[in-house]
Amino acid sequence: MKIILAALTLLFLSSCGNSQRFISIGTGSQTGVYYPVGGAIKQLVEDAPGNTLNVSAKASLGSVQNINDVMNGSITFGIAQSDRQYQAYNGLSNWNGDPQTDLRFVFSLHPEVITLIAAEDSGIVTAADLKGKRINLGSPGSGHRGNAIAILETLGIDPDEDIQAESLTIKECASMIQDNRIDAYFFTVGHPNGSITEATTGRRKVRFIPITGMESLIETSPFYAETQFPVKLYPQAIQTGEVESIGMLTTLVTRSDTPDDIVYAVVKAVFENLDSLKEQHPALQGLTPEGMLKGGNAPLHPGAEKYYQEVGLLEL
Ligand code: GLU
Repeated sequence: MKIILAALTLLFLSSCGNSQRFISIGTGSQTGVYYPVGGAIKQLVEDAPGNTLNVSAKASLGSVQNINDVMNGSITFGIAQSDRQYQAYNGLSNWNGDPQTDLRFVFSLHPEVITLIAAEDSGIVTAADLKGKRINLGSPGSGHRGNAIAILETLGIDPDEDIQAESLTIKECASMIQDNRIDAYFFTVGHPNGSITEATTGRRKVRFIPITGMESLIETSPFYAETQFPVKLYPQAIQTGEVESIGMLTTLVTRSDTPDDIVYAVVKAVFENLDSLKEQHPALQGLTPEGMLKGGNAPLHPGAEKYYQEVGLLEL
């Protein structure tokens, strides 16, 4: 079947006279930040002078699905949390004993914060109050499910025994909390985003729960860093000030056999139009060319390396 598909693809490509090549980017839920960011990258690549790439930005469950889809060849690029990139490349967590050594880093994007949001009437004020409550950890394809489990375990809360764990997709979460079907949910995400805007504007009041006391987790998992986000990004939220938590960077990944010229074209379109990319979403405001080379926990793809060397971001 695979061979027939490959032959059909080749036939299709040659019938296009090779003038157009099709690539795809795995993003996330329409209510997250990956989805609009993937759409913005698609636009920059397609608008680049002399472009021959036809790009589709696909909705997905998040980092874990994107990495798996990149590795099985069903998508060309994927947006993924830098911690999942590390775990996939090194054969940990979801990829326990099965290192994805062909995974390649392209560049990093916005910072993400492990965000915990709880209904006011649930009585959850600190993360320790999660015990016994209905908590959405995330779907298995998401990046935040692993973060939620790591945080609960660091707090001494057993996700299988001490809470009623749910595995909903992120697009369901805002309505599930509003309908009183869950008490809280985790979402590792850039701010602001659609899911949390929706959750904070409903009739059931919600609050952000700080995630602190994570020193031991950061020590064993150095891809995490302490961070915070301002509540004012959600004008209807009942708190003020900053919410303390931990987070990581978002990254773009691909597979080692993605042709160098395709990766080069994508990187060039993004780096040469960074100001326009930054305008596409508030979470992207802090991007800098130097910062976007950080967060690589898998080797850099040579097509990206070529561009970074050409513009002096990397030494030759
Ligand atoms: N970090 C989330 C995940 O990997 C997705 C965040 C987003 O869609 O912006 O599942």
